Order: sequence, then structure tokens, then C-alpha cells
Amino acid sequence: MIHCRSLEFHVVHGCNLSCQQCSHYSNFLRGGIVTVEEARENFDAWCKRIQPRRFTILGGEPTLNPNLCRILVMGRWKFRRSKRLLVTNGFFLHRHPELPKVLINQGYKLEISQHGTSSDYLEKFAAVQETIAKWRRDHPRLRIGVRQSHSGWRRQYNMVDGKALPILSNPRDGWKACIQKHCTQLHLSCLWKCPALAYHSQLERKLELQNIPAWQLFRDYQAIPPTTTDAEIRQFFATKEIPQCGLCPDHKIPFLHADPTVHEVGLPVVTSIA
Ligand code: SF4
Ligand code: SF4
Repeated sequence: MIHCRSLEFHVVHGCNLSCQQCSHYSNFLRGGIVTVEEARENFDAWCKRIQPRRFTILGGEPTLNPNLCRILVMGRWKFRRSKRLLVTNGFFLHRHPELPKVLINQGYKLEISQHGTSSDYLEKFAAVQETIAKWRRDHPRLRIGVRQSHSGWRRQYNMVDGKALPILSNPRDGWKACIQKHCTQLHLSCLWKCPALAYHSQLERKLELQNIPAWQLFRDYQAIPPTTTDAEIRQFFATKEIPQCGLCPDHKIPFLHADPTVHEVGLPVVTSIA
């Protein structure tokens, strides 16, 4: 077994919210629900070769996947020695009444991300807080954390006329400043260095970035397939900066988080929690 720090898996690529500068680009995406079979293929490709200290199910918004609980159970058995986490914005927790018991029985911690402090957002988030309070009362063994994700939010790329453009830097400095550098993604049965690279092709299709040469290094990136040797996998985890890190900011650029229930480029936004 090759030990690694963290492995993250999207069960949905899109999101009901639209947090600008989402590091997974999920603010631009809708749909993209991962099937149970796809999850199994991804897990089976790696569960006997790597042992992440932390295994995280997220998205996008994972509670948009109707098969979330089945995938959580499967993930527990495939990565049973890892600390397990489910990260969600909380808006659709009520769609999964069985979730608390699954999380308790399968040893996951529930992490809920708060994505703003605007009055409109907080009005909608109040229903999430009610669900959290009820689940805490009804399920004392359930571990729940609430992250203030909006504080410390940062810019990852520039937006010009609806197009994402990289912020150029020295790769070493880009990597040093990066908060995604240990967020290995399991996607398409391959390992990807970070969410920015794993989901860039989806962003490119959505925003029609194909003709922007500045992103070429991201297009050229090769994820690690299951056929990779153990030595190459160890090298993958040991590698710090790569040339692609030169397309990321070399310092924190604070970004004022707008109301994530309002979308910047006109995609339909799901705000109902009914
Ligand atoms: S809630 Fe916001 S940060 Fe989280 S996946 Fe959705 S858009 Fe991204
Ligand atoms: S390419 Fe490098 S600096 Fe950019 S997000 Fe990925 S790991 Fe971080």
C-alpha cells in the first residue's frame, strides 16, 4: 500500500450554489451525477494500491446525488483505514433522511460549508442550520462540523468577458501559495494533482476556453492511470510544483464572496430547499 495524505471523490460535478472562484469550478456546472457503478470503478482502480489518511466524498454538491448513501457505504469498505468525510453545502440534507445513520455506521464526519454572510444567503441557510440542530439532537453520535468557507476565500483565476484566464506566476511560488496542493482527486479512474486540473476540461467546455492559448499547460496535463507503477505513484505524491502551477496565483488574492445563490453568468440556480 502506498500511503498518501488525502483523496477526494466527486459524486456530483455540478452544484446548486454558485460560489464564484469555487476551486472545483462547480459554480459553472449543473448535473454531472456520478453513478454507483462509476464510483465502484474509480474506487476499485485504487483502493488496493493507495491508502489515503483522509478520504472525502464531495462535489459539486454531493447531496444532489440520489445514490449518495450507497456510495458512502461502498467508500467505507474500499477505504476503510482512512478518516472519512462528507463535505456539503447542506441545502439538500433533508433529501437524505437516512444519511445520519449511514454516516454514523460507516464512520464519516459530516462537514457543512457556510458560503457567505449576506442576508439573502443567511435567510436560506437558516433552514440548513435547523436541520443541523435537529440532527445533533436526534443523533448524538453524529460528528458534524460547520466550516466558515467564505472567510479566507481567494481568487484562483481572472474572469474577463465571461472567460476564465490564468494568473501567471513562477510554478514554485504558485505551488507554495496553493491551498489545493494536497487535494488529490480521484476522477475518471485516474489520480489528479488537484481539483483545478481534474475538472478544467469541464470548465473549458462550459466557458468555451478552447481557443485560449494561456491554458495550454492545463490541457497538456496527464493524470495518473491505474496502470502506473508503484514507483511512479510514489513520485506523483512526492512531487511538489509542476509546470501547471505557474498558471496559479503566487499569493493569496482575497476575493469578496458574493451571494452564492445568485449566479454570475446566467445559469439556472437552485435555491429552493423543498
Ligand atoms: S457550494 Fe460553492 S464552493 Fe461548494 S461546490 Fe458548490 S459552488 Fe463550489
Ligand atoms: S496546478 Fe499546482 S498551484 Fe495550481 S491548483 Fe494545482 S497544485 Fe495548486
